[in-house]
Amino acid sequence: AALYRVDGWGAPYFTVNSSGNISIRPHGVGTLAHQEIDLLKVVRKVSEPKSSGGLGLQLPLIVRFPDVLKNRLESLQSAFNFAIQSHGYEAHYQGVYPVKCNQDRYVVEDIVEFGSGFRFGLEAGSKPELLLAMSCLCKGSPEAFLVCNGFKDAEYVSLALVARKLHLNTVIVLEQEEELDFVIDISQKLGVRPVIGVRAKLRTKHSGHFGSTSGEKGKFGLTTIQILRVVKKLKQYEMLDCLQLLHFHIGSQIPSTALLADGVGEAAQIYCELLRLGACVKVIDIGGGLGIDYDGSKSQDSDISVGYSLEEYASAVVQAVQLVCDRKGVKHPVLCSESGRAVVSHHSILLFEAVSASSYQSSPMSFNGLQDLVERLPNDVLADYRNLSAAAVHGEKDNCLLYAEQLKQRCVEQFKEGSLGIEQLAEVDGLCELVSKAIGVSDPVRTYHVNLSVFTSIPDFWGIGQLFPIIPIHRLDECPAVRGILSDLTCDSDGKIDKFIGGESSLPLHELEGNGCINGDGGSYYLGMFLGGAYEEALGGVHNLFGGPSVVRVSQRNGPHNFAVTHAAPGPSCSDLLRMMHFEPHLMFETLKHRAEELANNGNDDSNGCMALASGLARYFDNMPYLVAASSCSLTA
Ligand code: PLP
Repeated sequence: AALYRVDGWGAPYFTVNSSGNISIRPHGVGTLAHQEIDLLKVVRKVSEPKSSGGLGLQLPLIVRFPDVLKNRLESLQSAFNFAIQSHGYEAHYQGVYPVKCNQDRYVVEDIVEFGSGFRFGLEAGSKPELLLAMSCLCKGSPEAFLVCNGFKDAEYVSLALVARKLHLNTVIVLEQEEELDFVIDISQKLGVRPVIGVRAKLRTKHSGHFGSTSGEKGKFGLTTIQILRVVKKLKQYEMLDCLQLLHFHIGSQIPSTALLADGVGEAAQIYCELLRLGACVKVIDIGGGLGIDYDGSKSQDSDISVGYSLEEYASAVVQAVQLVCDRKGVKHPVLCSESGRAVVSHHSILLFEAVSASSYQSSPMSFNGLQDLVERLPNDVLADYRNLSAAAVHGEKDNCLLYAEQLKQRCVEQFKEGSLGIEQLAEVDGLCELVSKAIGVSDPVRTYHVNLSVFTSIPDFWGIGQLFPIIPIHRLDECPAVRGILSDLTCDSDGKIDKFIGGESSLPLHELEGNGCINGDGGSYYLGMFLGGAYEEALGGVHNLFGGPSVVRVSQRNGPHNFAVTHAAPGPSCSDLLRMMHFEPHLMFETLKHRAEELANNGNDDSNGCMALASGLARYFDNMPYLVAASSCSLTA
């Protein structure tokens, strides 16, 4: 556990159990020992064939834990409730979940259900997000906010106004000044009194990677001049009472409470000014930014960590607003936040298998092979070989490396000229590898091939270099014998993971069992990517037409089997992926079948074989694109 820093980034939800497997503590700190869920048992239950009592789903796999989601939501609410109570703040906290962090139906429905007791709402940033938020919030608390952010056209604004007509507590937050004209015009046409918010561009700037949204030149929000023009226009239309919320967002992963308090304090001043100018503001929405400690370092100097707890975050917000409002004699506003990362990151784990590992053991050089090589080497290359042998005999490490490199280069030249055969070239490679090994400079880092697409499942690693904790989920009671990097299935050199938390360029890994191959006879080696519940699923692409993983939802239950799989869905099939690229799989199937039938009818080929080929084709369309073991692949043809 210490090697992989599980206690740092994993507490209180992930731990290593006495079998050396990762266990989930679904209720956080309050989890009892018998409630802990062994992740390996979940993987086995899900991936074993139906005939053996499993669900027969293929990896990669996302396992969602709704209990963890509930605990995150309740912890956030309790942190604010506690801060409000302990500082004597005179209004409540009522958060919203920004659905962009994970729009999965079950995630959003769970959040609405778990949060309905404390008026938890949703935030949308586009028309489809608004549609899903509207339908989900019909089952939520009537007081829950539906915050409409993002760039808006007339259609978006009218949909938001329809939501208000449906008695959803909808707030249209102006991100651009021009949106106000739509709001005034359409609300009059529809006969709805809108509730309006303004997103302010704060001067406070967050300097980390995610801070580019902040500051005067940030992408979103209204400048001070624009805010004043909005106020003026609303007054002109006798709609200033509609301006009820002040919003800002200085970026995700806010590193410190000092920066947070600075931003919140600035926003609180704007809030008080809006009130002075006649607006009926009641709510400060502090946006997202509540960070996650991905590496367990609790450091405010890193993009992947933060130097505060949930409680410290809430306390900093409450105090900063209170200070400004008390000085100005202003009634405390309702506090709203749009925490996404902090709510959903922990709830899901991406699981995948290592299917093979590169080996640096060159085939042993035979004496005959060496003899043959030496005899065939031209004189100038032979000199390099002799120099290398002499350096090796005298134990001269630097010279060994130098001559080995020279020998290799010359042999490649000879090969390109056609004067050296492929067997000799291989012998030279083997010899050089042997020398590197003998003098202790061979690269000990192995490449583990994983049945996964980085582009699909860990897009932020590829796109912005974001690190997530990635570790084996079993054999943690065994000392890992090697170090490795992870290489995915895509035909793309960027499809690899060679940076890990803690500044490591390789990961401690265990030797694969058997011959360490998906078609081999050894046991599986499962790895998990943790804290990836936010952003990764929607951001992922379909490079090489690898689609999303299978997904299961696992709840804690009391009893001998202490978990139940409450929902299971395989990942997209080859057909699903082809359809995304505008192919029509059923027509493709018909074309291929027709070709097979033609061949059979023309008597060109074995007609029974052709017919079997045609009827067996469907399976290839129906399966997921990821690798399967040969044992579970019945060949047709
Ligand atoms: N609200 C807005 C307007 C955002 O742009 C974002 C994300 O960038 C969020 C909320 C969610 O932020 P986080 O995931 O840091 O909580």
